[in-house]
Amino acid sequence: MFNKFKRWKPKGKMYSLRCFQCGSGFLSSFNLEAPICGKCIQKAKSLDSTVDYEKECSKCGNRGVIYGKAMCHSCYFGFEKQG
Ligand SMILES: [Zn+2]
Ligand SMILES: [Zn+2]
Repeated sequence: MFNKFKRWKPKGKMYSLRCFQCGSGFLSSFNLEAPICGKCIQKAKSLDSTVDYEKECSKCGNRGVIYGKAMCHSCYFGFEKQG
């Protein structure tokens, strides 16, 4: 069932990751500390309780970071806009 991954050719540096939430595989250009798929990031984003609005993201400066972290969801999970 992993045959399609063998044939996949990366453009630039890509990582094959496994979502720590639901366990499904996905690709990211970031070697994420806590890999999370697009589906679960949407859930994570909607959970206001996990966001600390007292702090600003150390990377993009947006207010609202993941609780206990110094970065917002987009920066931490690598879902920031490309280009
Ligand atoms: Zn997931
Ligand atoms: Zn950020």
